Amino acid sequence: MASCDAAATAAAVRQMAETIEQHHTELTHLDREIGDGDHGANLVRGFRAVVEKLDADEPGTPGAVLKLVATTLISTVGGASGPLFGTAFLRAATKVGDAETLDAAMVSDALSAAAEGVVARGKAAVGDKTMIDAFEPAVQAAQSAAEEGSVADVLEAAAAAAEQAASETAPLEARKGRASYLGERSVGHVDPGAQSTAYLLRSLATSASS
Ligand code: ADP
Ligand code: MG
Ligand code: MG
Repeated sequence: MASCDAAATAAAVRQMAETIEQHHTELTHLDREIGDGDHGANLVRGFRAVVEKLDADEPGTPGAVLKLVATTLISTVGGASGPLFGTAFLRAATKVGDAETLDAAMVSDALSAAAEGVVARGKAAVGDKTMIDAFEPAVQAAQSAAEEGSVADVLEAAAAAAEQAASETAPLEARKGRASYLGERSVGHVDPGAQSTAYLLRSLATSASS
Protein backbone atom coordinates (compact mmCIF):
# COMPACT_ATOMS: atom_id res chain seq x y z
CA MET A 1 0.00 0.00 0.00
CA ALA A 2 1.58 3.26 -1.10
CA SER A 3 -0.42 5.58 1.11
CA CYS A 4 -3.46 5.19 3.27
CA ASP A 5 -6.02 7.35 1.50
CA ALA A 6 -9.82 7.23 1.72
CA ALA A 7 -10.10 4.32 -0.71
CA ALA A 8 -7.50 2.28 1.21
CA THR A 9 -9.27 3.05 4.49
CA ALA A 10 -12.60 1.95 3.05
CA ALA A 11 -10.95 -1.22 1.71
CA ALA A 12 -9.57 -1.92 5.18
CA VAL A 13 -13.02 -1.47 6.69
CA ARG A 14 -14.47 -3.88 4.13
CA GLN A 15 -11.75 -6.35 5.12
CA MET A 16 -12.86 -5.97 8.75
CA ALA A 17 -16.43 -6.71 7.74
CA GLU A 18 -15.29 -9.78 5.81
CA THR A 19 -13.31 -11.07 8.80
CA ILE A 20 -16.30 -10.59 11.10
CA GLU A 21 -18.42 -12.59 8.60
CA GLN A 22 -15.84 -15.39 8.85
CA HIS A 23 -15.53 -15.38 12.63
CA HIS A 24 -18.89 -14.29 14.01
CA THR A 25 -20.01 -17.80 14.95
CA GLU A 26 -16.82 -18.37 16.90
CA LEU A 27 -17.14 -14.97 18.62
CA THR A 28 -20.68 -15.79 19.61
CA HIS A 29 -19.50 -19.12 21.02
CA LEU A 30 -16.91 -17.33 23.12
CA ASP A 31 -19.58 -14.94 24.38
CA ARG A 32 -21.85 -17.88 25.18
CA GLU A 33 -19.20 -19.16 27.60
CA ILE A 34 -18.82 -15.98 29.64
CA GLY A 35 -21.52 -13.58 28.41
CA ASP A 36 -24.90 -13.64 26.71
CA GLY A 37 -23.88 -15.22 23.40
CA ASP A 38 -24.41 -12.27 21.09
CA HIS A 39 -21.00 -10.74 20.42
CA GLY A 40 -20.57 -12.20 16.94
CA ALA A 41 -24.16 -11.41 16.01
CA ASN A 42 -23.77 -7.85 17.31
CA LEU A 43 -20.67 -7.22 15.22
CA VAL A 44 -21.97 -8.87 12.08
CA ARG A 45 -25.08 -6.68 12.23
CA GLY A 46 -22.95 -3.57 12.66
CA PHE A 47 -20.41 -4.30 9.94
CA ARG A 48 -23.08 -5.32 7.42
CA ALA A 49 -24.69 -1.93 7.98
CA VAL A 50 -21.28 -0.28 7.55
CA VAL A 51 -20.71 -2.03 4.20
CA GLU A 52 -24.18 -0.99 2.99
CA LYS A 53 -23.35 2.63 3.75
CA LEU A 54 -19.96 2.41 2.04
CA ASP A 55 -21.63 0.87 -1.01
CA ALA A 56 -24.14 3.70 -1.11
CA ASP A 57 -21.68 6.57 -0.72
CA GLU A 58 -17.99 6.17 0.05
CA PRO A 59 -16.60 9.16 1.97
CA GLY A 60 -13.69 11.18 0.58
CA THR A 61 -11.17 11.17 3.45
CA PRO A 62 -9.89 8.47 5.85
CA GLY A 63 -11.38 10.39 8.78
CA ALA A 64 -14.81 10.52 7.16
CA VAL A 65 -14.68 6.76 6.54
CA LEU A 66 -13.79 6.17 10.20
CA LYS A 67 -16.60 8.48 11.30
CA LEU A 68 -19.12 6.60 9.16
CA VAL A 69 -18.00 3.36 10.83
CA ALA A 70 -18.32 4.95 14.27
CA THR A 71 -21.82 6.31 13.86
CA THR A 72 -23.04 3.13 12.18
CA LEU A 73 -21.64 0.83 14.87
CA ILE A 74 -23.06 3.03 17.63
CA SER A 75 -26.52 2.96 16.08
CA THR A 76 -26.63 -0.71 15.06
CA VAL A 77 -24.46 -2.90 17.30
CA GLY A 78 -26.02 -2.39 20.72
CA GLY A 79 -24.65 -4.19 23.76
CA ALA A 80 -21.46 -3.08 25.44
CA SER A 81 -19.30 -3.46 22.37
CA GLY A 82 -21.30 -1.12 20.09
CA PRO A 83 -20.64 2.09 22.00
CA LEU A 84 -17.09 0.94 22.84
CA PHE A 85 -16.01 0.15 19.27
CA GLY A 86 -18.05 3.14 18.10
CA THR A 87 -16.11 5.41 20.43
CA ALA A 88 -12.84 3.85 19.26
CA PHE A 89 -13.60 4.68 15.62
CA LEU A 90 -14.90 8.14 16.55
CA ARG A 91 -11.71 9.03 18.45
CA ALA A 92 -9.62 7.68 15.58
CA ALA A 93 -11.63 9.81 13.15
CA THR A 94 -11.15 12.91 15.28
CA LYS A 95 -7.43 12.22 15.58
CA VAL A 96 -6.84 12.02 11.81
CA GLY A 97 -9.08 15.03 11.12
CA ASP A 98 -9.43 15.89 7.44
CA ALA A 99 -6.03 14.52 6.32
CA GLU A 100 -6.13 13.15 2.77
CA THR A 101 -3.67 10.34 3.56
CA LEU A 102 -2.36 8.71 6.73
CA ASP A 103 1.28 7.85 7.40
CA ALA A 104 2.61 5.35 9.95
CA ALA A 105 2.73 7.87 12.81
CA MET A 106 -0.84 8.99 12.15
CA VAL A 107 -2.11 5.42 12.05
CA SER A 108 -0.33 4.70 15.33
CA ASP A 109 -1.72 7.90 16.90
CA ALA A 110 -5.22 7.01 15.68
CA LEU A 111 -4.93 3.58 17.33
CA SER A 112 -3.80 5.23 20.59
CA ALA A 113 -6.73 7.63 20.48
CA ALA A 114 -9.10 4.74 19.80
CA ALA A 115 -7.86 2.79 22.82
CA GLU A 116 -8.04 5.91 25.01
CA GLY A 117 -11.66 6.33 23.91
CA VAL A 118 -12.51 2.78 24.94
CA VAL A 119 -10.90 3.33 28.35
CA ALA A 120 -12.67 6.68 28.82
CA ARG A 121 -16.00 5.06 28.03
CA GLY A 122 -15.65 1.63 29.64
CA LYS A 123 -13.21 2.35 32.48
CA ALA A 124 -11.45 -0.98 32.03
CA ALA A 125 -7.76 -1.47 32.78
CA VAL A 126 -5.39 -4.08 31.40
CA GLY A 127 -6.07 -7.35 33.20
CA ASP A 128 -9.83 -6.79 33.56
CA LYS A 129 -10.39 -9.32 30.75
CA THR A 130 -11.89 -7.00 28.14
CA MET A 131 -11.04 -5.71 24.67
CA ILE A 132 -8.57 -3.38 26.41
CA ASP A 133 -6.34 -6.37 27.11
CA ALA A 134 -5.83 -6.70 23.35
CA PHE A 135 -6.00 -2.99 22.52
CA GLU A 136 -3.32 -1.67 24.90
CA PRO A 137 -0.48 -4.02 23.88
CA ALA A 138 -1.46 -3.38 20.25
CA VAL A 139 -1.04 0.36 20.79
CA GLN A 140 2.35 -0.13 22.46
CA ALA A 141 3.55 -2.32 19.59
CA ALA A 142 2.20 0.14 17.02
CA GLN A 143 4.01 3.06 18.64
CA SER A 144 7.35 1.22 18.58
CA ALA A 145 6.83 0.14 14.98
CA ALA A 146 5.87 3.68 13.89
CA GLU A 147 9.32 5.00 14.82
CA GLU A 148 10.82 3.43 11.72
CA GLY A 149 8.18 1.36 9.99
CA SER A 150 5.52 1.77 7.32
CA VAL A 151 1.74 1.78 7.84
CA ALA A 152 1.79 -1.96 7.08
CA ASP A 153 4.54 -2.51 9.70
CA VAL A 154 2.54 -0.58 12.31
CA LEU A 155 -0.61 -2.59 11.68
CA GLU A 156 1.26 -5.91 11.55
CA ALA A 157 2.86 -5.15 14.93
CA ALA A 158 -0.51 -4.15 16.39
CA ALA A 159 -2.25 -7.26 15.07
CA ALA A 160 0.44 -9.64 16.29
CA ALA A 161 0.43 -8.08 19.77
CA ALA A 162 -3.37 -8.18 19.97
CA GLU A 163 -3.54 -11.82 18.89
CA GLN A 164 -1.04 -12.86 21.53
CA ALA A 165 -2.73 -10.76 24.22
CA ALA A 166 -6.23 -11.97 23.34
CA SER A 167 -5.17 -15.59 23.88
CA GLU A 168 -3.69 -14.55 27.22
CA THR A 169 -7.09 -13.37 28.50
CA ALA A 170 -8.18 -16.98 29.05
CA PRO A 171 -6.73 -17.43 32.57
CA LEU A 172 -7.98 -14.03 33.76
CA GLU A 173 -11.04 -13.38 35.91
CA ALA A 174 -13.31 -10.75 34.37
CA ARG A 175 -13.72 -7.49 36.28
CA LYS A 176 -15.74 -5.47 33.75
CA GLY A 177 -18.78 -6.13 31.60
CA ARG A 178 -21.18 -9.02 31.68
CA ALA A 179 -18.46 -11.65 32.18
CA SER A 180 -17.63 -10.06 35.55
CA TYR A 181 -20.99 -11.32 36.87
CA LEU A 182 -19.51 -14.83 36.61
CA GLY A 183 -16.56 -14.08 38.88
CA GLU A 184 -14.22 -17.08 38.99
CA ARG A 185 -16.33 -18.92 36.43
CA SER A 186 -15.07 -16.50 33.78
CA VAL A 187 -11.61 -18.10 34.13
CA GLY A 188 -10.61 -20.48 31.34
CA HIS A 189 -12.23 -18.70 28.40
CA VAL A 190 -10.86 -16.10 25.99
CA ASP A 191 -12.66 -12.75 26.21
CA PRO A 192 -14.85 -12.29 23.11
CA GLY A 193 -14.11 -8.57 22.77
CA ALA A 194 -10.36 -9.11 23.07
CA GLN A 195 -10.61 -11.76 20.36
CA SER A 196 -12.70 -9.56 18.04
CA THR A 197 -10.25 -6.69 18.57
CA ALA A 198 -7.44 -9.00 17.47
CA TYR A 199 -9.45 -10.02 14.38
CA LEU A 200 -10.20 -6.39 13.49
CA LEU A 201 -6.54 -5.39 13.82
CA ARG A 202 -5.47 -8.44 11.79
CA SER A 203 -7.90 -7.32 9.05
CA LEU A 204 -6.27 -3.90 8.95
CA ALA A 205 -2.81 -5.46 8.71
CA THR A 206 -3.92 -7.80 5.92
CA SER A 207 -5.48 -4.93 4.02
CA ALA A 208 -2.41 -2.72 4.45
CA SER A 209 -0.03 -5.39 3.18
CA SER A 210 -2.05 -6.21 0.05
P1 ADP B 1 -22.79 -7.38 25.77
O1 ADP B 1 -21.83 -7.82 26.85
O2 ADP B 1 -23.54 -6.16 26.15
O3 ADP B 1 -23.65 -8.50 25.29
P2 ADP B 1 -20.99 -7.80 23.53
O4 ADP B 1 -21.22 -9.24 23.77
O5 ADP B 1 -21.18 -7.33 22.14
O6 ADP B 1 -21.87 -6.91 24.52
O7 ADP B 1 -19.50 -7.42 23.94
C1 ADP B 1 -18.87 -8.00 25.04
C2 ADP B 1 -17.42 -7.55 25.08
O8 ADP B 1 -17.37 -6.15 25.38
C3 ADP B 1 -16.60 -8.21 26.18
O9 ADP B 1 -16.07 -9.42 25.75
C4 ADP B 1 -15.54 -7.17 26.50
O10 ADP B 1 -14.38 -7.37 25.70
C5 ADP B 1 -16.17 -5.88 26.08
N1 ADP B 1 -16.49 -5.04 27.25
C6 ADP B 1 -17.54 -5.15 28.08
N2 ADP B 1 -17.51 -4.18 29.02
C7 ADP B 1 -16.37 -3.47 28.79
C8 ADP B 1 -15.75 -2.31 29.39
N3 ADP B 1 -16.30 -1.71 30.44
N4 ADP B 1 -14.59 -1.86 28.85
C9 ADP B 1 -14.03 -2.45 27.77
N5 ADP B 1 -14.58 -3.51 27.15
C10 ADP B 1 -15.72 -4.02 27.64
MG1 MG C 1 -22.69 -10.28 24.66
MG1 MG D 1 -25.68 -8.53 24.80
